[in-house]
Amino acid sequence: MSERAIVHLDLDAFYVGVEQVADPALRERPVIVAFGGVYAPRTAVASCSYEARQSGVTSGMALKRARKLCPEAVVLPGNPDLYMRASQALFGILRDYSPVIEPASQDEAYLDLTGTTRLFGIPADVGSRIQREVHTRLRLSASVGLGSNKLLSKVAAGCVKPAGFCDVSPGWESAFLRPLRARRLPGVGEKTERRLLDFNLRLCGEVAGVHTRYLEIAFGVNGRLLSERSRGVDCSPVQPQGPVRSAGASMTFDVDTNDQRAVEATLRRLVEQAVGRLRRTGRATRTVAVRLRFSDSIDSVRQCTLAMPTDLERDIAPAARDLLERLWERRVRVRQVGVRLTGLTGGLEQTDLFDDLTGADGWTPTRAQRGRALSGAVDRIRDRHGFWTISSGRAVGAPRGQMDPGRAECA
Ligand SMILES: [Mg+2]
Repeated sequence: MSERAIVHLDLDAFYVGVEQVADPALRERPVIVAFGGVYAPRTAVASCSYEARQSGVTSGMALKRARKLCPEAVVLPGNPDLYMRASQALFGILRDYSPVIEPASQDEAYLDLTGTTRLFGIPADVGSRIQREVHTRLRLSASVGLGSNKLLSKVAAGCVKPAGFCDVSPGWESAFLRPLRARRLPGVGEKTERRLLDFNLRLCGEVAGVHTRYLEIAFGVNGRLLSERSRGVDCSPVQPQGPVRSAGASMTFDVDTNDQRAVEATLRRLVEQAVGRLRRTGRATRTVAVRLRFSDSIDSVRQCTLAMPTDLERDIAPAARDLLERLWERRVRVRQVGVRLTGLTGGLEQTDLFDDLTGADGWTPTRAQRGRALSGAVDRIRDRHGFWTISSGRAVGAPRGQMDPGRAECA
């Protein structure tokens, strides 16, 4: 079998990078993106510019702490829909270079370039060409790693952040990994690193030197994986993503609430957001699920199936409201509410058979056509001016909270 050529591409400080494209005045400044209330107690740093990182800010850190470390930072509330559009544009570029792409997140992907040399040239050239194209077309900075498997390409890209390119040539795998900290390996977090340090193992080369059996004794089933990774062994294939399976949105309240009206208004807003995302994929949903997370961290989920596939708020919002009604049975405050649309079907040529046959007089728009025209107009306004510029009356009065970025995209 010929040597595999896998590229890992990861955008640098993705959310901040997109914000800097939208507002060039933010370039070369300490910028922090934090979803939700900028002064809310639960807000965490979602993304930070490299200028902010110099002051010790990291993603995942509590925003309050980040502000203390870097008081001059510009803090932005985040714009998930803008990030989704940037992500779609990124994957549009990547698809020109390989049909085998595995999205690792919104801004991160593996590309299998094995066997594409005749078509595109040698993989190292292709890797840097993609990086340049992302920079010129999207004005976003990416780090790229190239290796004979996913593990090596990911570690390589991580080593040269930001805006770097690293090619681990075949035969140089162990020389590349040996001097790196074991923490660089995927799956080695703070806890595993501490445990490795207990055994005086700091570098990948040191872990690679320990017999697999001993690592298995110390780390259980993960010992073998650890051993393989430290030696640069990874046989996992690049798995292209199937079609979009769901669209959703969720929000964590700044203060836990037992006000059903307030949760209902928030849910309506989330439905609008999720449905907007669904429409962008050109698909329709049949299954609506609503989830509540309570103060005691217990989750409750209810779902229902609609009679017809749809991509309109008008059909989905009442179903979501009924589900919320049924979920409202605990005497515990609500921390988070979310909606997820699944059971997606293809295009939406006809969602409402009878509605679309004809208007009463044969020429006035039908109910479904009016609904679709309204949704299309709202989508266009939101695309231009932001999601929050227009909203249905029912969503008014939603309390403050932070959008959960993990559920912001279509999956
Ligand atoms: Mg990234």
